[in-house]
Amino acid sequence: MSIQQHISLKSHTTFGIEAYTSFWTEAVSEHDFNAALEFRQKHSLDLMILGGGSNILLTQDYAGLIIQNKLRGIQSETFSSKEVLVEVSAGENWHAFVQHCIANDWGGLENLSLIPGSVGASPMQNIGAYGCEIKDTFYSLRAMDIQDGSIHEFNAQQCKFGYRESIFKHEAKGRYIILSAKFKLSSKDHQIKTSYGAISQELEKMGIHNPSIRDVSNAVIAIRKSKLPDPAVIGNAGSFFKNPVVENSIVEKIRSTNPHVVSYPAGENHSKLAAGWLIEAAGWKGFRRGDAGVHALQALVLVNYGNATGKEIWQLSQDVVDDVAIKFGVELEREVNIV
Ligand SMILES: Cc1cc2nc3c(=O)[nH]c(=O)nc-3n(C[C@H](O)[C@H](O)[C@H](O)COP(=O)(O)OP(=O)(O)OC[C@H]3O[C@@H](n4cnc5c(N)ncnc54)[C@H](O)[C@@H]3O)c2cc1C
Repeated sequence: MSIQQHISLKSHTTFGIEAYTSFWTEAVSEHDFNAALEFRQKHSLDLMILGGGSNILLTQDYAGLIIQNKLRGIQSETFSSKEVLVEVSAGENWHAFVQHCIANDWGGLENLSLIPGSVGASPMQNIGAYGCEIKDTFYSLRAMDIQDGSIHEFNAQQCKFGYRESIFKHEAKGRYIILSAKFKLSSKDHQIKTSYGAISQELEKMGIHNPSIRDVSNAVIAIRKSKLPDPAVIGNAGSFFKNPVVENSIVEKIRSTNPHVVSYPAGENHSKLAAGWLIEAAGWKGFRRGDAGVHALQALVLVNYGNATGKEIWQLSQDVVDDVAIKFGVELEREVNIV
């Protein structure tokens, strides 16, 4: 393990924002993490673990140590006659892992195809898409306590998963390095989920009536490619805001003047509003200020057209939050981690 100083982070986050970290290292083994923690302790440094940088907005230089997680490896064991337990190291690429599962005919993660980033970050916000979240198949994870290097196991309940939420964004924030995660996947009789979004229409378009997990993955990939901006072409971190859950009375108030408001039931007396709809209805879709913008096709995604600073993107997000609050009485919450 070698520690480098004053490293540019521009290519290390999908927003492509220029910012520097004081110290940088890459960990390919648990031993590397231990050594990096020792260095951090000796120099009393702040610490950040980085995966693929696809859910981070850097608003300033980082005056601490960043460890990029590069732990690799996938192992499986039979769980039952119909299920397999798959343990995957945190530095594996999420989408490559999903494809590995499909190639082995392990079902359960196919709806989560093409989500960028690392496996280690997936429990942080209980990643989800197209009617699935990792909590549906998650079994447990191993994590290192940054205070003393001790290893702990968390089951799904202990992770306190919610909508884009987990214990690692709240009471355990900044405390653990996620080393690996285990998923319980089907090895036969797969539960195919095609009811969400445009999956069934996409399958129909592909001429498929009895879809396999591979077909569902291909449909999800096709939909995502047509809808979401590719960070390799234009800097972004996917959905910038969470879909707000509000009381039904608020939805009804909005509906009285906006009959087309998009909402879904979300528990007793509550609904989930589509944040993208609110932002678009407030008039922000396609807005651009300098190199910071709201994507022209997907209002939920803020973009860096080239040389936006993190502060400019953050200010734009704040202007959107304030305006949506004034126009609809709804407080948007950021999904992206602000550093
Ligand atoms: C185009 C695009 C589409 C997206 N679509 C979706 C989507 O459909 N659904 C969805 O849920 N998300 C989506 N995202 C967001 C993002 O892909 C996920 O949040 C992903 O899990 C982030 O992984 P990462 O490795 O890039 O995390 P990073 O951005 O590197 O890190 C995110 C956070 O997790 C922490 N972290 C990372 N790894 C570890 C670790 N091993 N241990 C402890 N802490 C860690 C970091 O410190 C940071 O706070 C999208 C992003 C983009 C750019």
